[in-house]
Amino acid sequence: MMKPQKTSDNSKANETTTAGLMEWLRRTDFNDLVTSEMHSRDFNGSRAEYIFMRVRLLSIIFAILALLWIPIDILIVPEDDLGPILGLRIAYSGLFLVLAMLTSGAQKLHCARLRLTTFVLIPCAFYVCSRVVFSGSTDIEVVLLGYSFLPYLTVVLLAIFPLTLVEGVGYASLVSITFLGTEIYFGDSLTISTLGDIWLLTLLAGIAVWAQLAQLHMLLRLYREASRDALTGLVNRRVLNKWLKLEITRARHQERPLSILLFDLDFFKRVNDTYGHLTGDKVLQAFSRLLKRDLVNFNLIGRYGGEEFIAVLPGQDESAAVAIADSIRKNCHTVQTRGPEGHVVSFTVSVGVTGLRSTDTTETLVRRVDKGLYSAKMKGRDIVVLAEDDTGESPEGSQVGAA
Ligand code: GH3
Ligand code: MG
Ligand code: MG
Repeated sequence: MMKPQKTSDNSKANETTTAGLMEWLRRTDFNDLVTSEMHSRDFNGSRAEYIFMRVRLLSIIFAILALLWIPIDILIVPEDDLGPILGLRIAYSGLFLVLAMLTSGAQKLHCARLRLTTFVLIPCAFYVCSRVVFSGSTDIEVVLLGYSFLPYLTVVLLAIFPLTLVEGVGYASLVSITFLGTEIYFGDSLTISTLGDIWLLTLLAGIAVWAQLAQLHMLLRLYREASRDALTGLVNRRVLNKWLKLEITRARHQERPLSILLFDLDFFKRVNDTYGHLTGDKVLQAFSRLLKRDLVNFNLIGRYGGEEFIAVLPGQDESAAVAIADSIRKNCHTVQTRGPEGHVVSFTVSVGVTGLRSTDTTETLVRRVDKGLYSAKMKGRDIVVLAEDDTGESPEGSQVGAA
């Protein structure tokens, strides 16, 4: 009778372990650590900038250290090899300086990846070239003392970057393959010492990848806390302004229209006063869920403050934006939440709408949509109002698609 009991205990323990693991994976958002596919554009920009600054700093340090090693080379490198090695060193230092000076695309993730790949390739190339130079040298063990640590140093230094699992493994593989390839080429692949070196390199790469993931996790957490509104999960005003700026540039570049919607829940103070703050919070959450659902194709929604929300609609002219806003306004009539004593709590929303003009800045665009919202309130609420123009200028790209 004991055996089945044990099996069921074991399977329960297994289930608990699996559930625990799944919970841990869910809480750490493991997918976010594997690739950057699910990361927001804004986070990618911040991470790219972070990588850019670290590559820059390390490149300057490497450029200086490479030159400082020259006196040691003069002491230990055989006379025949000294010329080529000094040439290599100067090239190595120069390449790092060039890398440090390149500032374009500081906030673009693909540029950051390219930068980091170059940062890894420079010491790899230097390592391979120095092995070629020293291949004929008699006292190779002594000479290589100052060079053989380069692959280890590169792998370990990668630990200071916040990288995804795929990126971390990719960069570590690049160094390991270079190292392994060089060893095989120079005929050392089967010695115990080389196998030990490969083992050590793999171990260090593992530790570096772990450190990279830990940094990425921390950065994601800090970023989310600083950019998301805890109540609704939408982005906050700071990120919204950043998005808006980017979308305005993009709309102008692509010569496409862009509209924005400013929502404000009606008589919201009354909801708080009548049903309490917690019910007010539930209404805000219900409204943000509705926004996320109805604007799933745009996905550029944020909480502007209190009970005000902004949606950015790239590619939509004013009339399309008014139609979208009105459909959201109507859908609010179908959403209800419950008060503390089971009371049904419904809500309405007023919406200001405007489209981008050629002279607009983020500030003028938001100021105009705010005016639209103000007139919606003046007109009695639960209404969509297209902001009137004080300039008489027509919206940018509004003729796109017109017959
Ligand atoms: P109007 O129709 O003119 O917009 O009236 P209103 O009552 O909605 O506007 P008012 O600006 O007078 O009040 C906004 C209220 O929103 C006041 C504030 O207590 C409430 N509020 C702001 N942020 C939150 C929040 O996070 N949770 C809750 N429950 N209430 C909030
Ligand atoms: Mg308000
Ligand atoms: Mg309000």
